[in-house]
Order: sequence, then structure tokens, then C-alpha cells
Amino acid sequence: MHRSLTRSFACLALAGTALALTVPAHAAAPAFPIEGTLAHTAIPSHYAIVLRPDATAMTFAGSVTIDVDVPQATDSIVLHAAGLTIVKAQLVAADGTTRALTVALDAAEQTARLTAAGGIMPGRYKILADYAGTIGTQADGLFALDYTGNDGKPTRALFTQFEPSSAREFAPMFDEPSYKATFDLTVTVPEHQLAVSNMPVVRSVAAGKGLKTVTFGTTPKMSSYLLFFGAGDFERKAMMSAAGVEAGIVAPRGSGHQADFALRELAGLIPYYNDYFGVKYPLPKIDNVAGPGQSAFFAAMENWGAVFTFQRDLLDDPRTTSPQARQFIAVAQAHEVAHQWFGDLVTMAWWDDLWLNEGFASWMETKATDHFHPEWQVLLTRVPGREGAMGLDAFRTTHPIVQHIRSVDETNQAFDAITYQKGEAVLAMLEGYAGETTWRDGIRAYMAAHSFGNSHTADLWAAVEAAGATGLTTIARDFTTQPGIPLVRVADQQCVAGKTVLTLTQDEFTRDRQGEVSTRRWHVPLLVSVGGAAPVRSILADGRATLTLDGCGPVVINAGQLGYYRSLYGAADLAALTTALPKLAPIDQLGLLDDQMQLAYAGYQPLAGALALLSAVPADANPRVGSEAAQQIAGLYDRLAGDASAQAALTARVSGPWRHRLDALGYDPRARDSVPDQALRVRLVTVLGHLGEPGVLAEARRRFAALDANPHALDGPLKQTWIDIVARNAGAAEWDKLGRLARASTSTVEKSDLFEALGEARDADLARRALDLALTDVPGKTTSAAIIAAVADEHSEMAFDFYVAHREAINALLDSSARTTFVERLAVAADSAVMVDKLTAYRRTLPADAQKPVDRALARLNSRLESKARVMREVLAWLGHA
Ligand SMILES: [Zn+2]
Repeated sequence: MHRSLTRSFACLALAGTALALTVPAHAAAPAFPIEGTLAHTAIPSHYAIVLRPDATAMTFAGSVTIDVDVPQATDSIVLHAAGLTIVKAQLVAADGTTRALTVALDAAEQTARLTAAGGIMPGRYKILADYAGTIGTQADGLFALDYTGNDGKPTRALFTQFEPSSAREFAPMFDEPSYKATFDLTVTVPEHQLAVSNMPVVRSVAAGKGLKTVTFGTTPKMSSYLLFFGAGDFERKAMMSAAGVEAGIVAPRGSGHQADFALRELAGLIPYYNDYFGVKYPLPKIDNVAGPGQSAFFAAMENWGAVFTFQRDLLDDPRTTSPQARQFIAVAQAHEVAHQWFGDLVTMAWWDDLWLNEGFASWMETKATDHFHPEWQVLLTRVPGREGAMGLDAFRTTHPIVQHIRSVDETNQAFDAITYQKGEAVLAMLEGYAGETTWRDGIRAYMAAHSFGNSHTADLWAAVEAAGATGLTTIARDFTTQPGIPLVRVADQQCVAGKTVLTLTQDEFTRDRQGEVSTRRWHVPLLVSVGGAAPVRSILADGRATLTLDGCGPVVINAGQLGYYRSLYGAADLAALTTALPKLAPIDQLGLLDDQMQLAYAGYQPLAGALALLSAVPADANPRVGSEAAQQIAGLYDRLAGDASAQAALTARVSGPWRHRLDALGYDPRARDSVPDQALRVRLVTVLGHLGEPGVLAEARRRFAALDANPHALDGPLKQTWIDIVARNAGAAEWDKLGRLARASTSTVEKSDLFEALGEARDADLARRALDLALTDVPGKTTSAAIIAAVADEHSEMAFDFYVAHREAINALLDSSARTTFVERLAVAADSAVMVDKLTAYRRTLPADAQKPVDRALARLNSRLESKARVMREVLAWLGHA
């Protein structure tokens, strides 16, 4: 699954819906070779599911035949079912004897217990069940997305989303990743619709009344969460990849021309991964299916052979798609296609090891995108990605990459920046340690050993170490089983007879345990560069090391930024690095900048040194470095909230060089722009607009006004950027005009972007109107949560209060996986002590396994409040404004 680009994933389970599963995840009895929390009664090998959805009534009827093996005598077979009514169930023995099964549903455990009078002896059986269920409006289970078709008519399409725990809403299933089986799916849908599943269609016959019955080929052996079904008024664009696998993009009819970019990328990825993983993609085709809508939980899902992606993250609309969004199309697709191996072919045995899926796919998405588009410089994005993880990992509320998962709600919460971005950072570090070829050989061996099966984290380390990466397991274990961030301190640095003698010590970087002595120790792989020379490898093993290196000059102790740790230098050493900054590699400029700013915010060093470093980023820096510097300036500006004159002084002090860079780039795209240049243009317009720079504000208003005469005046890659600036600074007239544009738009993506922009208003009355609008039917079922989240960026408390007051109604507008974490999203920009009290009171209303996201929000908020006065004082002193 790929997390959203701009939208966080989020939530709050209602007290009654959180599960309290008590069986430990690894309770597998020796006689039962499968892990999971389900009572170990039977092992499925094949499902034949026949489904008849009624998209008008939003219901479906289904029947399933499950081939199972019962390893030991039992009274009943327990499998998953949620939100289903099981009308009839039977057990057929190998000799054809058929017995009725009585069904006992357990809503809390999401299970069905099927009991046969007289008991069930060991052996092979078929379970037959007829059942019924409902079609939802949010992305879990079988759900509908409503949109305006390209013919201007209201249109409804059906899709499924099963990860992590919603396949059980589609059919009774053994719905845990270790229960792998093959699947046959047959569906009855309207004749004119295109139906898509994991495998190609093998048969389609008329079913009368304008319907047809479509049967798909049998899938390979796979986990239930990877099954997919979609049907709608779609068109499919396809091409044969060099690997002989057909690649297809499925999109709403009439939008196929927007699929070309994604299709070319998709077709290229299959041979690339075939080679990298050393195991050929085992299905005859791979589709990526565009869904018109969005989710607060995810952007795309790796169903085997039938990836699902929300349209905004798959189709390239030249009228609205920004360069970042276009890059995200490639990156998200590289992520989902990597999952076809890491996740689909080889699956984690239990959700404890979710990071094997997500950390790996995140690492691979960057590697593959860099392979195909080196000019995009996406390896540089790993530094901000690492920051995303460290933003969670610095607090006591963090968790290790490998964590114990007990319930469905805990599984949902596991899809976070630790699992994805810390996973990516640690894998990049380990690849650097092993060397690219040894690492790949290890991955190939791991793939070959576990194809169509399940694995654990330790299996991966064993394979890479066996390929030649001696010592890797020790490092890997330190970084995946312990939470937190190592802090490597340059305790002493001296130039002695032309050599640098460096003493390093290891501590822990933390935002809320600085008074405590950390007992955590990591084997930290180091790459140390002196005076720009090639880096020297070392390991900081026992908390302290002295290195002697040739030459003298500025020292970078995390050269190449592959290490997952923060680097703290002495004041003189940092000053030397600041002077040398323009000559350092862009990745080290980025790493230093982020490290030093965060170390200063956390109080490990004075802010002045970090601000000097920020000011030393040259205005002609690499565009990705420039983007990050601008982002840091915006963050600093927000920390001065409440002091308009200090904000003005900051803007005056730091915006000049970046205003010039923007002037040099121009507002409008040029043919010669690189993708990083295009991204920098968007970032500079956004940040300068955020800082209230008059030139950018006037340009935004001028362009917005031009829409009156020409509805296409804003078309282009910066369309949403200009809209966001206007929305943030809108008065009532502009806000109303935005609302009219949103209602009139015929593009699904643009429409929801415009509605979301209404929530960005700084004006409190307008923000309140946006919240009220979110609870109406006007924006569309999957846009409302995004509006509320947008309000929270400027008015966190207002959005939070609104959520608490309308909890049930808003939860209905979120997919169930996003509910527990949504409130954390609303508190991201919180900045007041009042919010501490509100969050604390709210936390008390939650079951234990849903409290963690609130704990994280509280930790972040408390830390910000504690450091607020100090940061403000230090910035003012630096500005000479005290
Ligand atoms: Zn993923």
C-alpha cells in the first residue's frame, strides 16, 4: 500500500469497533504450520467466489466454496467474516457426504464459527456458504465511488480494498496473511461495464436483464488481502512489456489519454524487477486501476496483478497535474509493482513484519525511479523521508520497526512513517553496508527461498549475510528491534600532523527524554569524509570510537547520508562545515541542514549555528536542496506565529535570495526545466506565498481574477499552487468564487482539490463554513475528510472540536483503517495548551489499542510548547529583533 502524498492517513475507532484479540500472534501450535490470531482449525487451499453486486441498492449476494484441510479433529471451523449475513453453510467431505453447518457470528472478533453436529474428523473438505453483504462508500471491503462521467452523467463504479483486514467483508475467508490460497472469482455485472480482477477474464456470458457473468482465471497462491475486483464504465489501455507480461491502465471511460505516462512506466518496471529479484513476475498481466476519489489512509494498493490507485495519483492531466504529482505517479507505481514481489510473492507471516512489505517497497520505489529517471534526483528525497520517520521516532511514543501487533486497529496504525520511511532509511543503510551487488544477491536468494510463501525479518538478514554481508544481522537487528534514533556526537576533532583524529560517542536523539540516560546501543555504520575526500568506512560499536583519517578539513560523519542517525558537531566544526557548505555534495547539504535544524529545535545546540547553516545554502543550490531550505524557512516562520513583526523580520532577512531564484526560474514552466527545477518553482511560490511575500500574493490574485474572462487562465502544473495561495488568503468573495468553481468543475480530481482548498482559508469564519460544507453531500463522499484535514492546518482546535462534535458522521466519511489516526492528523499543527487538555480528555474516551495516535499527537504538541519560548527567543536574537 502506498501512503498518500499530501494527505496523512489517520483515526479514531468508535469504542465498540476496536477488537480485543487475545490470542498471541505467534501462538501457532507445532502441529499447525500457520501463524495468526485465528483459532487453528483448518487450512484453506482454494476459494471459488461467485458474487452478484447490486450497485443501486448498495448490496451484494455471494456464494463461496472453500477447499480446506482439517489437520486435527474439531467441533467447528473458525474463519473470518465481517458485516456479512451467512444465509446457509454446508460441509462436503471428500466422499461427497454433505452436512449442514450452524453459523455463529462474532461481530467483535469478526469471525464465523461453523459447527457440524457430530464433529469434524481430520481430512479434506469443501465449505459451501451463501451470504450477503453491503457496499460501502469509503475505501474498504467492496465500495462504490460516485463521480461525473466524461459524458457529464452521474456514474458509479465498484472497487475493493482489503488490506489489512477487509477481505472478510467480501466473503467468509481465513483473512490473515499466512493463510495463502488460490482464488477463482466470478461476478455478474452490467453488460456495458468492464470488470477487472487479479487475473484476465477467461469467460464472459450474457446473464439476461442487461447483465453478464464474468469469470476470471485462477490466481496464484496468495494472501486474501491481495484479492481485487473492480467494475465500471472503464476503458483499458494496454501494451506488452519487454518481459512478455501485458501492462494495462484501467480508467474511467474518456480519460484513457491521461494514462499514457503511467502505462509506459508500468511496462518498464516489470522487466526491471524481473531482473532485480531474479524471479519472474508470475501472472500474465498487470493492471493499474484508477479510482475517482481519495482516502485519508492510502493512495494505492498492490493487489496482485490488479493494482488500485486513486485517479489523482495515477492519471496525468496536463490541465492540473503538478510536477510533484507527476513524479508521485511514477514513484507510487514503482512502489506497488515492487510489492508484486515483496509482499505478494513473498508475504510477511504476520503484521509484526509489515515493514518487510512497506519499508522494502518504499526503499525500492526510490531505487527504481532513480534507475529510470536519474535526472529527477529522487535519491535526494530520502533525506526528507528520513526526517518524516525521525519526527515520530524521537518521542517515547514511537515503536520499533518490527512491532508486536495484536488487533485489527493496531494493524491499521502500523501503516506509519516508522514502517515506511524508517524502513526505507534502514534498508538504504544496510544496502550501503553490504554493497549493491551482495545485497541484491541476498534479496534474490530470499525471493527464491520464499516464493508463494511467508517470511520473517530474520529470513531476510540471513539471506543477505549468507550472500557475503558479514556482520549485517547485528546492525539490522539493532535498528529494527529497538525504537529511537542514535545521536553520534563529535566529541573531539583535531588535526595532528596532517591527519584528523576524531573521537565519536553515541547517545540517543530524543525530544522528550533528554533528562534520562539512554541505555540503547546501536552498531552504527559510519562513512566519514574529511575535506571532501572519499568517505572511510567504520562502525561505532560500543558507544565510543576514535578514528584517525588522512588529511584535515571539514568532517562529515554521515557522508552520503545513508546512516539512520543524527550528527552533532562542536561549534567550531559546524562553523567550518557552514563555510564549506556550497562545496559539499547536495545530499550532505540536505542531511546537515535537517540534522542541525532539528538538533537546535530540540535544544542540543544553539539555534544560531543552524540558522547560519540555513543562510549559507547558496541561492543557486541544487533545486532539491533549495526546496528543502525553503521548507525549513516556512517551518521557522510558523514557529514565530503570534508575532507578526518577527515574522516580517524573518521574511525580510531570508526571502531575498529565494525571491531572486524564483525570478530567475519565472512563474511559468519552460521547456528546458528539469523536474527538480519545476518542483523548486512550485515550492518557492508556495513558501513565499505562505510568508505573504507581496509579489507572489499579487500574482496569485491576478491569475485568479483572470479566470473570469478565461476559464483556462490557470491551467498548467501550478494551477493548484495558485489556488492554494488564493484560498489561504481568501476573503468571502474569493472563497465563494472558489466554491462556484468547485461545483462547476467536471474533473474529478480538480473538483475535490477545489473543495479541499476551501478548508485552507486563514479567515476563521470561512474555515467554519468549510467545515459545515464538509458534512453536506456537496463535496462528494471521499472529499469531506480532506476538507476537515485542510482546516486543521490553520485552525487545528476548530477542526478538532468539529470532529469531536460530529464524530459519528465524520467517521462515516473515513475508511475504517483511517479512523484511529485521523485525530492525529487534525492535531499536527496544534500549538496551544488548550489542545493538550482537549486531546487528553478525548483520549479517555478511547479503548486502549486506539490511544496511541493521540499519545503521539500529545507528545509532539507538548514538546513544541516546551521549546516554544526558547526557539522564539533564539530566532529573535538571531534576527537582531529582541
Ligand atoms: Zn506499500
